Amino acid sequence: MKRSFIVSAIATALAVTTLSLHAQNDAYEVNDTHFHLTNYVQEGTDIHEFLKLMGTKVGRVALFGIPLQQTWSYGNTGDFAPTYYLQTDAPLYYYSFTDAFIAMAYRSLTPAERARFDPMITGFNPADMYAADHIRRVLTTFPGVFSGIGEFTIHKEFVSPKVAGETASLTNPALDRLLDFAGEVGLVVLMHNDIDMPFPKPGQEPYQLIQLRDLFLRHPKTTIIWAHAGLGRVVRPVKDQIGIVENALSNPALSHLNFDISWDEVAKYLLATPETTRAAAELINRYPDRFLFGTDEVAPTTQQAYLKVYTQYAPLFAQLTTDASRKLRKGNYERLFDDARRKVRAWEKAHVKETSR
Ligand SMILES: [Zn+2]
Repeated sequence: MKRSFIVSAIATALAVTTLSLHAQNDAYEVNDTHFHLTNYVQEGTDIHEFLKLMGTKVGRVALFGIPLQQTWSYGNTGDFAPTYYLQTDAPLYYYSFTDAFIAMAYRSLTPAERARFDPMITGFNPADMYAADHIRRVLTTFPGVFSGIGEFTIHKEFVSPKVAGETASLTNPALDRLLDFAGEVGLVVLMHNDIDMPFPKPGQEPYQLIQLRDLFLRHPKTTIIWAHAGLGRVVRPVKDQIGIVENALSNPALSHLNFDISWDEVAKYLLATPETTRAAAELINRYPDRFLFGTDEVAPTTQQAYLKVYTQYAPLFAQLTTDASRKLRKGNYERLFDDARRKVRAWEKAHVKETSR
């Protein structure tokens, strides 16, 4: 009698603990796969202030800066200090210190606060054969911090042509080396690559799409999130956008490929008409495990600004099944990033000497 009382007391306690854990997860509405704490001049929101913006709405956030720094060229803009890449013709350059900055911001948090972030390494040049070595160095310098790499960019309207040095390319072996290393460690890869160039001529070969497919096929062991599903400010859905994405989703050789729907520019296209909204919702309902929500906000100062894209997407969420909606907003993030955390910590354990930990 006594024994069974203890057993049932333990069972009740366990049930309560499990319940409260679920309650904690369910208390948040959404996780954010795509968030920039700092801007193109490496300034941004204090991470403690940002936690207040996340509030009780956003549970977890994939956290990164921006790998590129906008040069303030006096010869180009004089006393005007540009903070965005469209404000000047001066080049952008890779700013590796961003990774140390993000790591230190993360380390300034309490353990419970840290559990809500998945920091990402971004400060590398994807056209450099040494890029993978930078990632290894960041992991061994700041063990216990990072879960992925990105957002980094190969082709992006207005941005990639402004980057100083060699132009990044989907066919550069430096990128293969990078994705191989990410796969070996278990890092999630968040990559931006426009699905096509701005304003293509009718019938022009979408060479980026072909190169991109080949790149994804070459790295089946790497978990990849294709940011914005390839859309951009003026990179409009190519005629058969849904068909192209669906083709990738139905290909078993691309099961490691996921899509984020971040950026208000993307929401603009997906929600353009009732028909586009319905088509996007139907695709997500058919492949509920492959899409992730993200904001792509940069250094926001209010919760309203931070959650603008989330609010915008309400008509899309309304057309999703309960299961697809939960996975898009939270479940897929938790599955991919929990898996990455586990693998990256194990890699660090095997590769970082005790003394430096
Ligand atoms: Zn972004």
